[in-house]
Parts: sequence; structure tokens; C-alpha cells
Amino acid sequence: MFALSEEHEALREAVRDLATEKIAPRAAEVDRAAEFPWDVYEALVKADFHALHVPEEYGGAGGDALSSVLVIEEVARACATSSLIPAVNKLGSVPLMLGASHELKQKYFPPLARGEAMFSYALSEPEAGSDAGGGMRTRAVRDGDTYVLNGVKRWITNAGVSKFYTVMAVTDPAAGPNGISAFVLEDGDPGFSFGAPEHKLGIKGSPTRELYFDNCEIPASRLVGDEGEGFKIALRTLDHTRITIAAQALGIAQGALDYAVGYVKERRQFGRAVADFQGVQFMLADMAMNLAAARQLTYAAAAKSELAMAGEKVEDLTFFSSAAKCLASDVAMSVTTDAVQLLGGYGYVSDYPVERMMRDAKITQIYEGTNQIQRMVMARQLLNG
Ligand SMILES: Cc1cc2nc3c(=O)[nH]c(=O)nc-3n(C[C@H](O)[C@H](O)[C@H](O)COP(=O)(O)OP(=O)(O)OC[C@H]3O[C@@H](n4cnc5c(N)ncnc54)[C@H](O)[C@@H]3O)c2cc1C
Repeated sequence: MFALSEEHEALREAVRDLATEKIAPRAAEVDRAAEFPWDVYEALVKADFHALHVPEEYGGAGGDALSSVLVIEEVARACATSSLIPAVNKLGSVPLMLGASHELKQKYFPPLARGEAMFSYALSEPEAGSDAGGGMRTRAVRDGDTYVLNGVKRWITNAGVSKFYTVMAVTDPAAGPNGISAFVLEDGDPGFSFGAPEHKLGIKGSPTRELYFDNCEIPASRLVGDEGEGFKIALRTLDHTRITIAAQALGIAQGALDYAVGYVKERRQFGRAVADFQGVQFMLADMAMNLAAARQLTYAAAAKSELAMAGEKVEDLTFFSSAAKCLASDVAMSVTTDAVQLLGGYGYVSDYPVERMMRDAKITQIYEGTNQIQRMVMARQLLNG
């Protein structure tokens, strides 16, 4: 991936225009109030940027993986919270793209594509974090034409604002990760409720809540794929969506770098713009260099994701997607921290956006697998092929 196509460049420009006009002006308030930005959601839906990965045959825009990356990156450059709208819609629905029947897709994709419903993804639990397969306790028990779910999911992004949830639950406790199955849950299913929103360091406008299942009975037709395939589907999903977290990290970092570049040209000390000092220039050069490297890796990973979605066997997708997520999020953390440094004391206060960007960057090193887990995944690929 050495150059974007004209279509991709045009898409980037269109998203950047929307983000500049409608999203950036809202970002500080969304962070301060910790409220979901419904106005931004509506603007994204109107432009068809809220879930553009949904295939055309189900009423979606049919955007490729790189298009999703560009949308998420450009939205995150303005507001990380808002970038979770397209990112989590993809995370929640890729399990269906990978494993669901035509009927299930027909039921759930058109409302997602029309912007009538968002989709969340529920793998983690209080005791099931990095070891999501080994620690899972949520149970789904078959009862005639239904499954009955009991348990707790933790840390679920956009919980309460999403209508649909892909939930992983244990159907065969004796089978370990091969006894986990995936289901679609709907807000309003009897016995399905939410915990209080977490108070977070960043991405504050995106609610993170627990999901509770108390004898929650759902039709058996909501099973995604076959019984026992859920964990495999969950991991294969992450191969595609860790790339969207890389995109989010790139966007946050680019927003911070752009702001810092503008600032150092204006700010004067010792009778000159601070941009004139070589110590500052070297920092900027490192920030831009690392960001460019992470971007190339992310776009290459997106190209591989697209091939895999089209049914090709892509041996190194898992490596590339972990590497992109790990590198881009580490770069986002260091670039945003340096941006705060370059603004001096002004970087440390909320009158300027870079402290928010630094707080938002941190989550990209944690969710969809911490960066320790990404390194484990990469090493496993290297050692075991
Ligand atoms: C804001 C937010 C949103 C989230 N959204 C979602 C969501 O939408 N859906 C969802 O399913 N989950 C979500 N998560 C959960 C997230 O993916 C987990 O928090 C993450 O995978 C880590 O799990 P844990 O928090 O239990 O940490 P733990 O697994 O307890 O890890 C603690 C520490 O130990 C390290 N560690 C663990 N095992 C190893 C190892 N083998 N080798 C080296 N180090 C190790 C970790 O890297 C970490 O530093 C979200 C989390 C947050 C905070």
C-alpha cells in the first residue's frame, strides 16, 4: 500500500470536512459532559459513515476495510469518542459477517446500515480479560427453541446506546474455548439489563457498562454460526477490528501532532518561535516519522483484512493486525504525550485539546487485547508459524 486510490483520497477528504465542521467543535464538550454525542451519530448516519462496512446486499455502503480505517482515523483526529461509532459498529457486526446465516444477517444488518441501531461486542467479563476464553463464566443453556443466558459481561463499549449485542457465552463447560458460542442479544430482551456507566480516563462520551443476563431467554435462531464456534469467531473478528483500533490511534496522534505543529510556530520564547529550536524540531520529526510508519503498517493490514474478508487465505493477517494495533497505539501514546510537552503548561490544561488526546490515546493500548497480548500473538506467529 504505497498510495491511496482516488476514491480513498476523496473519502478521506469528505470525512475530514465533516469532522472539521460537525465533530471537532463538539469534542471538548463531549469529553467534559461524558455524554454520548447523538448529534455526531446523526451526522455520521446522514453521510453514511457510521457503519460503511455493511455489505451492499444487506443495504449497506459495502465499504472496504481501508475505507473503514480512513473514516475512523479522520473522525478520531477530531474526537476519539465519536470514532467509536463506526469502530464498534464494525466490531459488533463482524462476527455475523464471518459466521452468521443469511437470515440472521438479513435481520440485523439493514437496521445497522440505516442507522436505526448500533452493534456492540461482548467478550470480556470480570474474570475473563486477557484470558477471555479460559475465564468465561456467562452460560447459555439450550431449552427447546430457546437459549437461556445467565452471567455478566464487563467493559462493553457503547452499552446502552447500542440496540444489538454480539455476546459470547459458554454452551459446553467441559469443552474449554471450544465450548463457547456467539449470540445476538437485543436491548429489551427479557432478563437483559445494564450496569452504571464507568468513570473513565478518556473516550468519556462513549458509555462503557456491564451487561447482566438473568435467565435471559432468546430464540435459538440468534445463535451465530454453530455451537462451539463462538470463540473462534470472536478471535477472527479481532483480526479485522484491531486494525480499526490502529486507525483510531493514528487519528488521535495526528490530531495531537497537527495541533502541536501549529502551536510551536506561534508560541514565542527567548525572542523566537519555539519551533525555531532544534530540540523542538527533533521531537516533531520523531513524532511524524513514527506516525507515518504506523500508518503504512495499518493500511497494509487493512489491505490484508479486505482480502481475507473476500475469502482468500491470508496467513499473516493475525500478525499484521496485532502489529498495526500495537505499533499505532504505542505511537499514539508517545505522540500525544510529546504534544502535551510541546505546549508546556498549556498542554496540561483542558483549554487546549492535547491533554484530552493523551487521555484518549491510552485506551488504544488496552482494549481489543492489551499490547502485551498483541506481542504474545505476534511472537506466537513467529515461533509457531
Ligand atoms: C474502556 C474500555 C472499553 C472496552 N470495550 C470492550 C468491549 O466493547 N467489548 C469487550 O469484550 N471488551 C471490552 N473491553 C475489555 C478489554 O478488552 C480488556 O480490558 C482487556 O482485554 C484486558 O483485560 P483486563 O482488563 O481483564 O486485564 P487483565 O487481563 O487482568 O490484565 C492485567 C495486566 O496483565 C497483563 N497480562 C495479562 N496476561 C498476560 C500475559 N499472558 N503476559 C503478559 N502480560 C499479561 C495485561 O497486559 C495487563 O497489563 C474494554 C475495556 C475498556 C477499559
